Amino acid sequence: MSNGFDKEMLDGMLDSLKKFTDAHLPDTRILELDATEEFPVETIREMCNPEVLGIQLLFIPEEFEGMGGGAFDVYRVCEELARVDLGVATGVLATFLGSDPIIFGGTYEQKKLWMTRIGQEGLLMAYGATEPAAGSDLGALRTVAVPVEENGVVKGYKITGNKQWISNGGYADL
Ligand SMILES: Cc1cc2nc3c(=O)[nH]c(=O)nc-3n(C[C@H](O)[C@H](O)[C@H](O)COP(=O)(O)OP(=O)(O)OC[C@H]3O[C@@H](n4cnc5c(N)ncnc54)[C@H](O)[C@@H]3O)c2cc1C
Repeated sequence: MSNGFDKEMLDGMLDSLKKFTDAHLPDTRILELDATEEFPVETIREMCNPEVLGIQLLFIPEEFEGMGGGAFDVYRVCEELARVDLGVATGVLATFLGSDPIIFGGTYEQKKLWMTRIGQEGLLMAYGATEPAAGSDLGALRTVAVPVEENGVVKGYKITGNKQWISNGGYADL
Protein backbone atom coordinates (compact mmCIF):
# COMPACT_ATOMS: atom_id res chain seq x y z
CA MET A 1 0.00 0.00 0.00
CA SER A 2 1.25 3.51 -0.80
CA ASN A 3 2.05 6.21 1.74
CA GLY A 4 -1.37 7.65 1.07
CA PHE A 5 -3.12 10.97 0.71
CA ASP A 6 -2.13 14.38 1.95
CA LYS A 7 -4.52 16.01 4.44
CA GLU A 8 -6.38 18.01 1.79
CA MET A 9 -7.13 14.92 -0.31
CA LEU A 10 -8.26 12.88 2.68
CA ASP A 11 -10.50 15.70 3.93
CA GLY A 12 -12.02 15.95 0.42
CA MET A 13 -12.75 12.21 0.39
CA LEU A 14 -14.33 12.33 3.87
CA ASP A 15 -16.40 15.34 2.85
CA SER A 16 -17.74 13.51 -0.25
CA LEU A 17 -18.50 10.48 1.92
CA LYS A 18 -20.43 12.62 4.40
CA LYS A 19 -22.49 14.22 1.60
CA PHE A 20 -23.32 10.74 0.30
CA THR A 21 -24.30 9.30 3.70
CA ASP A 22 -26.32 12.42 4.62
CA ALA A 23 -28.29 12.01 1.39
CA HIS A 24 -28.66 8.21 1.29
CA LEU A 25 -28.39 7.05 4.89
CA PRO A 26 -30.19 9.48 7.19
CA ASP A 27 -31.07 8.21 10.69
CA THR A 28 -34.63 7.37 9.63
CA ARG A 29 -33.33 5.01 6.95
CA ILE A 30 -30.77 3.41 9.30
CA LEU A 31 -33.54 2.71 11.84
CA GLU A 32 -35.72 1.27 9.10
CA LEU A 33 -32.89 -1.00 7.87
CA ASP A 34 -32.31 -2.22 11.42
CA ALA A 35 -36.01 -2.85 11.98
CA THR A 36 -36.41 -4.79 8.73
CA GLU A 37 -32.96 -6.45 8.95
CA GLU A 38 -32.28 -5.35 5.40
CA PHE A 39 -28.80 -5.15 3.86
CA PRO A 40 -28.91 -2.02 1.63
CA VAL A 41 -27.02 -3.53 -1.27
CA GLU A 42 -28.25 -0.91 -3.77
CA THR A 43 -26.89 1.90 -1.59
CA ILE A 44 -23.57 0.10 -1.26
CA ARG A 45 -23.44 -0.38 -5.03
CA GLU A 46 -24.14 3.36 -5.47
CA MET A 47 -21.30 4.11 -3.06
CA CYS A 48 -18.97 1.98 -5.20
CA ASN A 49 -20.16 3.46 -8.50
CA PRO A 50 -17.30 5.66 -9.80
CA GLU A 51 -19.93 7.99 -11.36
CA VAL A 52 -21.44 8.57 -7.89
CA LEU A 53 -18.74 8.18 -5.19
CA GLY A 54 -16.39 5.31 -6.12
CA ILE A 55 -15.28 4.81 -2.54
CA GLN A 56 -13.23 1.73 -3.44
CA LEU A 57 -10.97 3.87 -5.66
CA LEU A 58 -9.44 5.04 -2.38
CA PHE A 59 -7.44 1.84 -1.90
CA ILE A 60 -6.78 0.97 -5.56
CA PRO A 61 -3.16 1.78 -6.54
CA GLU A 62 -2.76 4.68 -8.99
CA GLU A 63 -1.17 2.38 -11.59
CA PHE A 64 -4.55 0.58 -11.78
CA GLU A 65 -6.56 3.80 -12.15
CA GLY A 66 -7.24 4.20 -8.43
CA MET A 67 -6.42 6.97 -5.97
CA GLY A 68 -3.61 5.16 -4.13
CA GLY A 69 -4.74 5.75 -0.54
CA GLY A 70 -2.78 4.23 2.35
CA ALA A 71 -3.75 2.27 5.47
CA PHE A 72 -4.47 5.46 7.44
CA ASP A 73 -6.87 6.72 4.73
CA VAL A 74 -8.72 3.38 4.70
CA TYR A 75 -8.96 3.48 8.49
CA ARG A 76 -10.38 7.03 8.48
CA VAL A 77 -13.01 6.17 5.86
CA CYS A 78 -13.92 3.02 7.79
CA GLU A 79 -14.19 5.01 11.03
CA GLU A 80 -16.49 7.65 9.51
CA LEU A 81 -18.66 5.06 7.78
CA ALA A 82 -18.92 2.93 10.93
CA ARG A 83 -20.07 6.06 12.77
CA VAL A 84 -23.05 6.12 10.38
CA ASP A 85 -23.73 2.37 10.29
CA LEU A 86 -21.58 -0.63 11.23
CA GLY A 87 -23.30 -2.96 8.77
CA VAL A 88 -22.78 -0.65 5.81
CA ALA A 89 -19.15 -0.12 6.83
CA THR A 90 -18.66 -3.90 6.98
CA GLY A 91 -20.20 -4.33 3.51
CA VAL A 92 -17.94 -1.68 2.00
CA LEU A 93 -14.83 -2.78 3.88
CA ALA A 94 -15.33 -6.39 2.76
CA THR A 95 -14.17 -5.22 -0.67
CA PHE A 96 -11.08 -3.63 0.89
CA LEU A 97 -10.42 -6.87 2.78
CA GLY A 98 -11.18 -9.12 -0.18
CA SER A 99 -8.75 -7.36 -2.49
CA ASP A 100 -5.82 -7.76 -0.08
CA PRO A 101 -4.87 -11.26 -1.28
CA ILE A 102 -4.79 -9.95 -4.88
CA ILE A 103 -2.73 -6.89 -3.95
CA PHE A 104 -0.26 -8.88 -1.87
CA GLY A 105 -0.22 -12.24 -3.61
CA GLY A 106 -1.45 -11.70 -7.18
CA THR A 107 0.67 -11.62 -10.32
CA TYR A 108 0.94 -8.26 -12.09
CA GLU A 109 -1.63 -9.45 -14.68
CA GLN A 110 -4.10 -10.53 -11.96
CA LYS A 111 -3.71 -7.21 -10.16
CA LYS A 112 -4.16 -5.24 -13.36
CA LEU A 113 -7.29 -7.16 -14.36
CA TRP A 114 -9.04 -7.30 -10.99
CA MET A 115 -7.98 -4.05 -9.33
CA THR A 116 -8.93 -2.11 -12.46
CA ARG A 117 -12.32 -3.84 -12.68
CA ILE A 118 -13.02 -3.40 -8.94
CA GLY A 119 -12.22 0.30 -9.30
CA GLN A 120 -13.99 1.07 -12.56
CA GLU A 121 -16.98 -1.31 -12.31
CA GLY A 122 -17.45 -1.10 -8.53
CA LEU A 123 -17.46 -4.90 -8.15
CA LEU A 124 -18.42 -5.97 -4.63
CA MET A 125 -16.12 -8.51 -3.03
CA ALA A 126 -16.36 -11.12 -0.31
CA TYR A 127 -13.44 -12.67 1.54
CA GLY A 128 -14.32 -16.18 2.60
CA ALA A 129 -12.02 -17.45 5.32
CA THR A 130 -14.23 -18.37 8.29
CA GLU A 131 -15.73 -21.87 8.48
CA PRO A 132 -17.81 -23.59 11.15
CA ALA A 133 -14.67 -25.15 12.65
CA ALA A 134 -12.12 -22.47 11.66
CA GLY A 135 -12.28 -18.85 12.84
CA SER A 136 -9.06 -17.42 14.24
CA ASP A 137 -7.23 -20.65 13.43
CA LEU A 138 -6.97 -20.54 9.65
CA GLY A 139 -4.78 -23.65 9.76
CA ALA A 140 -7.99 -25.59 10.47
CA LEU A 141 -9.63 -24.61 7.14
CA ARG A 142 -11.19 -27.61 5.39
CA THR A 143 -12.37 -26.09 2.09
CA VAL A 144 -10.42 -27.29 -0.93
CA ALA A 145 -10.13 -25.98 -4.50
CA VAL A 146 -9.29 -28.72 -7.00
CA PRO A 147 -8.14 -27.65 -10.48
CA VAL A 148 -10.45 -28.78 -13.29
CA GLU A 149 -8.40 -29.58 -16.37
CA GLU A 150 -9.33 -30.04 -20.00
CA ASN A 151 -6.63 -31.50 -22.24
CA GLY A 152 -4.03 -30.68 -19.60
CA VAL A 153 -5.12 -27.03 -19.33
CA VAL A 154 -6.64 -25.68 -16.09
CA LYS A 155 -10.13 -24.38 -16.96
CA GLY A 156 -11.33 -23.59 -13.47
CA TYR A 157 -11.54 -24.87 -9.91
CA LYS A 158 -14.07 -27.08 -8.15
CA ILE A 159 -14.51 -25.69 -4.64
CA THR A 160 -15.85 -27.94 -1.87
CA GLY A 161 -16.47 -26.80 1.69
CA ASN A 162 -18.58 -24.69 4.05
CA LYS A 163 -18.18 -21.03 4.90
CA GLN A 164 -19.97 -18.88 7.46
CA TRP A 165 -20.23 -15.21 8.46
CA ILE A 166 -18.90 -14.00 5.12
CA SER A 167 -19.71 -10.31 4.70
CA ASN A 168 -21.27 -9.66 1.25
CA GLY A 169 -21.33 -13.45 0.79
CA GLY A 170 -24.82 -13.44 -0.71
CA TYR A 171 -24.28 -10.36 -2.90
CA ALA A 172 -20.66 -10.23 -4.01
CA ASP A 173 -19.63 -10.24 -7.66
CA LEU A 174 -16.20 -11.60 -6.81
C1 LIG B 1 -19.87 -8.89 11.53
C2 LIG B 1 -18.92 -9.99 11.13
C3 LIG B 1 -18.45 -10.05 9.83
C4 LIG B 1 -17.57 -11.05 9.45
N1 LIG B 1 -17.12 -11.09 8.15
C5 LIG B 1 -16.28 -12.06 7.76
C6 LIG B 1 -15.82 -12.13 6.40
O1 LIG B 1 -16.15 -11.29 5.56
N2 LIG B 1 -14.99 -13.14 6.06
C7 LIG B 1 -14.58 -14.09 6.96
O2 LIG B 1 -13.83 -14.96 6.56
N3 LIG B 1 -15.01 -14.06 8.25
C8 LIG B 1 -15.84 -13.07 8.67
N4 LIG B 1 -16.27 -13.03 9.98
C9 LIG B 1 -15.82 -14.04 10.90
C10 LIG B 1 -14.73 -13.53 11.85
O3 LIG B 1 -13.57 -13.18 11.18
C11 LIG B 1 -14.50 -14.65 12.85
O4 LIG B 1 -15.55 -14.52 13.76
C12 LIG B 1 -13.17 -14.59 13.51
O5 LIG B 1 -12.19 -15.08 12.59
C13 LIG B 1 -13.12 -15.36 14.81
O6 LIG B 1 -13.52 -16.69 14.61
P1 LIG B 1 -14.57 -17.42 15.60
O7 LIG B 1 -15.76 -16.54 15.75
O8 LIG B 1 -14.75 -18.84 15.13
O9 LIG B 1 -13.88 -17.41 17.01
P2 LIG B 1 -12.74 -18.37 17.55
O10 LIG B 1 -11.64 -18.46 16.58
O11 LIG B 1 -13.38 -19.65 18.01
O12 LIG B 1 -12.27 -17.55 18.82
C14 LIG B 1 -13.08 -17.47 20.00
C15 LIG B 1 -12.32 -16.64 21.03
O13 LIG B 1 -11.07 -17.27 21.36
C16 LIG B 1 -9.98 -16.38 21.14
N5 LIG B 1 -8.84 -17.11 20.56
C17 LIG B 1 -8.85 -17.86 19.44
N6 LIG B 1 -7.64 -18.41 19.21
C18 LIG B 1 -6.86 -18.00 20.23
C19 LIG B 1 -5.49 -18.23 20.55
N7 LIG B 1 -4.71 -19.01 19.80
N8 LIG B 1 -5.00 -17.62 21.66
C20 LIG B 1 -5.79 -16.83 22.43
N9 LIG B 1 -7.08 -16.60 22.16
C21 LIG B 1 -7.61 -17.17 21.10
C22 LIG B 1 -10.50 -15.32 20.17
O14 LIG B 1 -9.83 -14.07 20.33
C23 LIG B 1 -11.97 -15.22 20.57
O15 LIG B 1 -12.13 -14.35 21.66
C24 LIG B 1 -17.14 -12.03 10.39
C25 LIG B 1 -17.61 -11.95 11.71
C26 LIG B 1 -18.49 -10.95 12.09
C27 LIG B 1 -18.96 -10.92 13.51
